[in-house]
Amino acid sequence: MARIETDILVSGGGIAGLTAACAFGAAGHRVICVDPAPPVTEAADPSSDLRSTAFLQPARDTLIAAGIWDFLQDHATPLQIMRLADAGGEANEIRKVADFDASEVSGMPFGWNFPNWLLRRELLNRIDGLANVRFMPGVSTTALTTRETEALVRLSNSQSVRASLVVAADGRNSPVRSMLGIGVKTWRYGQKALAFTVSHTDPHHNVSTEIHRSGGPFTLVPLPDRDGKHYSSIVWMETGPHAKALSEMPPEDFNAALNARSCGVLGKLTLESRLTLWPIISQMAERLSGQRTALVAEAAHVIPPIGAQGLNMSLADIQCLLELFSETDDIGTQSLLDRYHRKRWPDIKARVTGVDILNRAAMAESPSLRDLRMKGLTSLHGLAPLRKVAMQAGLGNR
Ligand SMILES: Cc1cc2nc3c(=O)[nH]c(=O)nc-3n(C[C@H](O)[C@H](O)[C@H](O)COP(=O)(O)OP(=O)(O)OC[C@H]3O[C@@H](n4cnc5c(N)ncnc54)[C@H](O)[C@@H]3O)c2cc1C
Repeated sequence: MARIETDILVSGGGIAGLTAACAFGAAGHRVICVDPAPPVTEAADPSSDLRSTAFLQPARDTLIAAGIWDFLQDHATPLQIMRLADAGGEANEIRKVADFDASEVSGMPFGWNFPNWLLRRELLNRIDGLANVRFMPGVSTTALTTRETEALVRLSNSQSVRASLVVAADGRNSPVRSMLGIGVKTWRYGQKALAFTVSHTDPHHNVSTEIHRSGGPFTLVPLPDRDGKHYSSIVWMETGPHAKALSEMPPEDFNAALNARSCGVLGKLTLESRLTLWPIISQMAERLSGQRTALVAEAAHVIPPIGAQGLNMSLADIQCLLELFSETDDIGTQSLLDRYHRKRWPDIKARVTGVDILNRAAMAESPSLRDLRMKGLTSLHGLAPLRKVAMQAGLGNR
C-alpha cells in the first residue's frame, strides 16, 4: 500500500485534535487526523459526551483564525458573570457570594459555552470545507518511528504516513507519548465529577455559578433556553464513593440531592439527561515534545474542571505551535520543538499548580478550613485590583 505524505499527522480527534486539524489546515498545512472512535455529534446518542466546554476570550481568537467561530457563534451562550458561592457553614446554605463581572476587565463576556457533542459536529463541518485536511475516523496510530528529518507513522488500517510533524492529541493516556517514552507526573484526589444537563425554574442571566461546600466544586454553566425552559450544564465534583453513590440513585432521590447541593440558586433543578462520571486527576508530561513530535491538550496536561481552564490551555498549545510554524518552512525541527516546550511549560506548570490548590481548597471537609476558604474568597473579591488580576489570570490573556 502506498505511503501517504503529509505535513502534519494529528493523532487523536477529540475536541482538541479536531480543533488542531482545522487550525493547522486553515494556516495552509496538509493535515491528516486519525481517531479510533467515530465522533458522537447528537445529544440523544447514548454515548454522547454530555459535558459542555466554555471557551474563554483568548481561545476565540484561535477559533476565528481557524474559521471555526463562524460555525459556532450562533450556538454560543455567553458567560458574563462568574459567581463563586460559599456554602461551607454548618447549615447547607449560601453564606457568601462573590461576583466577578467581565465588564470590569473587558467589553466582552469571559467566554462562551457549547455542548461538547455540538462542538464535534461543527468542527467536522469545518473540516469538510478544508481540502487540505483529511479526518480518518475508526483509524488509530499504532507505531511511530522518527528521524531527524521526518516521522513515519503506522496506522491501524495498515497504511503508513510520512509527516514533517506528529501532533499527539490522543488524550491523558496518550499512546504516542508512550511510544516516545515520555513519562508523566500524576496527582490523584480520590475524586470524580458527575456531568449532566438540568432544566431550572429561574433564568441564569448568563451567570456561571460555582458553589463550594466539601468534596469539590458544584458548577452550573449556562446553556441556551429551549421550548420555554431554562437549561444549564452541571459539573458536580465529589469524593469517588459519594459520586458513585449519587450516580446510582433513583431519579427522585438524585433530584432531591441535586437541589440540596445547589442551595436553590436557580430555583428548582430537574435532571434532563443521563449522568456521566469522570475521574479527576492532575497530570503533566515530563516534556512537551519528542523528535518530530509535539504533545498538546490532555496528552500534555490534565487538570480538574475548575475555571474552564482545560481545553483553553489546549488551544494555547495549538496557538503557540501556529506562531512557531509561521516563522519557518520546516515545521518539525528540534529547535522549533524545543522552543514550543520552553514557551508553553511555565504557563502549563502555573495553571496545573493553581488549579490543584483551588481543587484542594474546594474539597475541604473541616469547618476551620472551610472558614479559611471563605475568608480567602472575601479578601480576593473585596479588593478591586486583586479581583481584576484574578480575572485576567483566569482568562489566560495572551
Ligand atoms: C467533567 C469535565 C468538564 C470539563 N469542562 C471544561 C470546560 O468547561 N472548559 C475547558 O476548557 N475544559 C473542560 N474540561 C477539560 C476538557 O474536556 C478536556 O481538556 C478535553 O476534553 C480534552 O480533550 P483532548 O482532545 O485532549 O482529549 P480526549 O477528549 O480524551 O481526546 C483524545 C482522543 O484521542 C483518541 N485516541 C486514543 N488513542 C488513539 C490512537 N492510538 N490514535 C489516534 N487517536 C487516539 C481518543 O479516541 C480520543 O478521541 C472538562 C473536563 C471534564 C472531565
